[in-house]
Amino acid sequence: MTNGLITRYHNWLGLPALTPVTLGEGATPLVHWADWDTHRIWLKLEGCNPTGSFKDRGMTVAVSHAKHEGASAVICASTGNTAASAAAYAGRGGLKAFVVIPNGQVALPKMIQASAYGAIILAIEGNFDQALTAVRNVAETEDWIALVNSVNPWRLRGQETGAYEILDDLGHAPAGFVLPVGNAGNISAYFHGFRRRGQGLPQMFGIQAQGSDPLVQGHDMDDVSTIASAIRIGKPASAHLAREAVAATRGQFRSVPDADILHAQRELAHGGVFVEPASAAAYAGLKMLYQEGRLPDGDIVGILTGNGLKDSTTAGLWAKVEPQVVPGESLLDAISDLMTH
Ligand SMILES: *Cc1c(COP(=O)(O)O)cnc(C)c1O
Repeated sequence: MTNGLITRYHNWLGLPALTPVTLGEGATPLVHWADWDTHRIWLKLEGCNPTGSFKDRGMTVAVSHAKHEGASAVICASTGNTAASAAAYAGRGGLKAFVVIPNGQVALPKMIQASAYGAIILAIEGNFDQALTAVRNVAETEDWIALVNSVNPWRLRGQETGAYEILDDLGHAPAGFVLPVGNAGNISAYFHGFRRRGQGLPQMFGIQAQGSDPLVQGHDMDDVSTIASAIRIGKPASAHLAREAVAATRGQFRSVPDADILHAQRELAHGGVFVEPASAAAYAGLKMLYQEGRLPDGDIVGILTGNGLKDSTTAGLWAKVEPQVVPGESLLDAISDLMTH
């Protein structure tokens, strides 16, 4: 049985006494993936959260708090996973959920997921950043509707629990920490989480996708493109906090091309870990940093933010989905043949 993050980490979250809206999120696996020379590589499987992404960590806290404050609805702009998470937690808490997406730019399974949980999906002509501006305006005007994007401080507080879990699992701070960066909320939350616990800070590396890498370029971008739709963001709302995290830990922002993302996705999947492209970007970045000799010695944690089923069509670019048809009586022959290849 699990009571979710708010019960487990109440003392660290700074919440008022409230009734949690929870789906048993958190406590995700930290898998010892490999040892690369002097580096012990750990992967945290955030796709194991109730809606399939890390967004649930922040959402349980944001929705619980919004409900406690008397809100009757939540609203968010989303590249997909925030929408699915907001929809699920709103449903659980008996609130209405409005999700606003950039038209045509969200992976279909995430739309289906949000809709299945009962959210109302609205699309605007424009990109994620314009959608975020639009929903911020609505939430600022009306007090019955709560904004649950990562600019909501309770979202970030909830996401700090990822750092708490790593510290609790390893018993100390890792030497290096790698995660994908889109709107830059998560890297900021981990930084604050590590800092709040006072057990040391890892060197933090934020990985973006080439074509959508404003933090690497050092300026906002109007036009962004990458296969990794969850991090297709040109104006990260928490850019200032993310820069602080990287500067304070002598880390780096780096970007990886789509081809490396797909390659990383495939390598992870063949090792039993199926993630969506944004998460694969972190692994591609991890490998790049290793090859450059840029990783510190010791424990390195990579955050795999979302489940591979979230964006199955992209995996279909390399995973063969057409089965080979064989007559039933020659099945053994076919299998023996394939074994030797
Ligand atoms: C939201 C998301 C990210 C990016 O997180 P930010 O807090 O926006 O930087 C990365 N991967 C996945 C799967 C996501 O859903």
